[in-house]
Amino acid sequence: MPNYIFEDGAERNIPIGKLVCLARTYKKHADEMKSKVPEEPLLFLKPVSSVIFDGESIVYPSISKCLHHEVELGVVIGKKCKDITRDTALDYILGYCVCLDITARDIQSVAKKNGWPWSIAKGFDTFAPISNIVLKERCVNPNNLDISLKVNGTVRQSSNTKNMVFSVEEIIEFISSIMTLEPGDLIMTGTPEGVGEIHRGDVLEAELGGICFLKVDVK
Ligand code: MG
Repeated sequence: MPNYIFEDGAERNIPIGKLVCLARTYKKHADEMKSKVPEEPLLFLKPVSSVIFDGESIVYPSISKCLHHEVELGVVIGKKCKDITRDTALDYILGYCVCLDITARDIQSVAKKNGWPWSIAKGFDTFAPISNIVLKERCVNPNNLDISLKVNGTVRQSSNTKNMVFSVEEIIEFISSIMTLEPGDLIMTGTPEGVGEIHRGDVLEAELGGICFLKVDVK
């Protein structure tokens, strides 16, 4: 299991745990996917083997013909939590990152039509690029951070985490009512509108709140 890399360069020896992901947390993204925002958070998991870091490459799988970018706020858990309430949720956070939930949209469309899980569409190696982690003390409010993604220098996604239909606190409360969250687990909180295709040779640059930066390419 790889360890997180921290913005300050300090060695903290925190292995990356499970990746708990949310779908349809921004109304405009739900609209563009012709779906609705769910009443409760909609969860899926990505394998930790899909993680890559700043400067690495997304590998285009041979069985997909349509990869999409989804830029997301990542929340790294610092303390074990189970059945916690939203008023204490921020105490369990170690830090934040900007991450990409790379999706084989063609494979996901077939899965959606058939009522199948999304594990293949979301789970290829290299499908979870993550930036260095910024400790939570450097981020006053995770619910008000600009988030953006450029592809080859052109802005494709640009929003703010205040547009999420659930707060970070509500998300942690909900997930912890289902499964224990442990130190090193990463919550990928869902993407704003503007998702679109990426191709071999593209360069993706993501930014969160002027504190987290991520640059990867596609090969
Ligand atoms: Mg996503």
